[in-house]
Order: sequence, then C-alpha cells, then structure tokens
Amino acid sequence: MSAILVQKYGGSSVADTERLLQVADRVVAAKQRGFQVVVVVSAMGDTTNRLMQRAREITPEPPRRELDMLLSAGERVSMALLSMAVQARGYEAISFTGSQSGILTNDRHFEAQIIEVRPIRIQDELARGKIVIVAGFQGMSYKREITTLGRGGSDTTAVALAGALGAEACEIYSDVDGVYDADPRVVLEARRMENLRYEDMEEMSRMGAKVLHAEAIRFAREHGIALYAKATSGGEGYTLIRRDFAPEDTTVRPAITCLRPLCWLSFPRAQINEETLQAQLAEYGLDSSMSFWGKERVELAFWRDAYPELDVAVQRLNLQADIEEVAVVSVVGSQAGGSAQALAHASQALRASMGAAPWRIWTAPLRLSFAVPLAQANDAQRALHRLFCVDGPPLVKGDI
Ligand code: ASP
Ligand code: MG
Repeated sequence: MSAILVQKYGGSSVADTERLLQVADRVVAAKQRGFQVVVVVSAMGDTTNRLMQRAREITPEPPRRELDMLLSAGERVSMALLSMAVQARGYEAISFTGSQSGILTNDRHFEAQIIEVRPIRIQDELARGKIVIVAGFQGMSYKREITTLGRGGSDTTAVALAGALGAEACEIYSDVDGVYDADPRVVLEARRMENLRYEDMEEMSRMGAKVLHAEAIRFAREHGIALYAKATSGGEGYTLIRRDFAPEDTTVRPAITCLRPLCWLSFPRAQINEETLQAQLAEYGLDSSMSFWGKERVELAFWRDAYPELDVAVQRLNLQADIEEVAVVSVVGSQAGGSAQALAHASQALRASMGAAPWRIWTAPLRLSFAVPLAQANDAQRALHRLFCVDGPPLVKGDI
C-alpha cells in the first residue's frame, strides 16, 4: 500500500470557486504522485464568522449545542464542493463529516477535544482508491452530538487523522508560506521560521499565533507527526515543525505573538465567596487560561474567541469587578522564557514604545508575557520584534 498523505486547506484557500478548483488540482497532483490522499477543509472564507454573527443577531447567548450544529455546516459546504471538483477531474472522491470520519470528542460544545479517532470509513474508501475529503473542525461526542473543536480547529482534525491513519506527513496549507516570527500583517519585517520544535510552536499557538491551532501541535507532538506549514499558492518556502533538530538547524530567535481580545476581570479577593465563585466558574465552563488568585486581588482573563456567551456569563457572576479589554503580547522561545536579561530588555523596549509600563508582566519557562491596552498591541509587537528578532540581544540565560 502506498503512503498516506493528509493535506489541510484553510478557509482562504477555498474562499471561492476559483480557489477551490485550484485546491482540487493540488489534491489530484498529490494522488498522481502516488499517495493515498486525505484532505481536510475549513469553511469557505469568513463563513464561520458570518454564521457566528447570524447567531448573535438572534441572541446574545447562543446555546452552544445549536452553535455547533450551525458552524459545522460551514465545513460541510467546502467538503461537498471539493469532492465534486475532484470527481469532475475524473478522480474518485468521497466527502465525510467529522462524525462519519470517526472523530470522537468530549461533550464540551464549541471547544470540544478529540478523545479518539476511529477512521474506519476513511480507511475503507482509501483502500478502494478514493480521495477522501473530510470536513474539518468537527466531531461527535460520546453522547452522539455534533461538536466543534474551537476556532481554527480544522488543523487539529488534520493532525488527529494523520496520527490515526499512520500518515507519512501532514501538510497544512494557508495563504502564508509557513510560520513567521511575528504576525506579518502587523510586523512588516517578520520573517519565516524554517524549523520549529513542537514545544515552541505549541506555546506560540496558545499565546495567539493563529497560523496553527494549539491542539493540533499537541497531537503532532504526542504522535510524532512531522507538520509542514505551506502556502496554497505554491512556492519553495515552508516551515517544518517536528521533535528534534540538529543544533545548527534550530531557529535560535524567539517569536512574538499576540492574543486578543482578552476580557480581564479584577476584583478584591475579600469581596467574594471563593468556593461559590469557583463552583460557578466550573458550572459555566469558564476555564480561564490565565488566572491569578493573589493575596489581595483575583484576576481572571478570558479569551473572547473561546466564549461565545462571555458577557452574559460574566454578568451572571455578579462581581463588582473592573473589566478591561486587553491584548497579551508575548516573546516565545526557550531562549527568552525565564531569562532576567530578556525581561529587562523587553520591558525597557515596551516602556519606550508605549510611554508607560505594560499593565501586567509575567514569565514562564518558554515565554515572557505583557498585558497591554488593545490600542497599543501592534506597536508593542513591533517593538519586541525589532528587539528580539531583528537586533537580537544576547539571550543566553545567565549570560550578562
Ligand atoms: N472554520 C473554523 C474557524 O474559522 C475552523 C477552521 O478554519 O479551522 O475557526
Ligand atoms: Mg487556521
């Protein structure tokens, strides 16, 4: 049996009929190269945003189950059209939803996690020589409900399938030719990173790099799958994400990421009944990705993209909290994380660019993070990129 190749095409790559037909050509080309081909597609263009908008026009608190039914339709449109396009080129193809593909998740609607993949139908169709097209971003819970995997989750579908099928490689296609050391739409001097370790990439994704979904990297790391981030338009460049590199291959410069918008709550700890609040947070599924229960104050931050009903849920908590909308800008990479020298350089650069100290600063083994006002997030990214990725201060830990 020939090797299996999993390709994933993002929303901009299938945004209209013309682009969808180009993707069909690429898929057919992979088949002609002798691979068994599985293709995962995202919803066309900004379909998912538009569907979210529609839901919000109806209610500020869309029920998550119904949101999943709605949003998963976006990827279904793409899979069916692409399958038609491939068949029109004379190749056999079949499209499957996430549940038909055997993607089983937990029951956390809108942000479900894949628990198991049983790709039996995919394997059967591959054995028949067909190209299999899968709707990304969705699965089925053990309660037999349709779930979605969180914004950007089609990447995770692709990597999870690659793992379950024992694929040779997983290629993630989008409108950029790889992973950059900052968002190229914000930082003009951003450069492509050729090699990245899973750990650094996962941290970048969790801290806001949207090119790859963090859960996808976690899967790739757990299954040892080499991930290629490439441009749909072709070209030589790409980023390879895998476990180990020879020291000379490793990208030594860190990357700059930005997570936004975050809803940041802060209130005196004495003001609340801690047990009740923690129970309520659990009940509403409000898992804060950054929370700090200090001696005097409690701070909780929620990434808006993960919580469709955030405002309503926060109101229900009935806290007398200061609420701010902020961005968290981070320097990610083992060279910067936890380094006192890097922290000193970064804080100074941010003070100079913003005219004030960052609103919050914290460090972790793989990063330095700064909470800044939304309006200053772009300037902050540019300042940090110049410092760490262009000028490159000596960042070896302990080397002063
Ligand atoms: N269509 C979904 C989103 O926009 C999933 C994806 O594109 O990966 O978030
Ligand atoms: Mg994406």
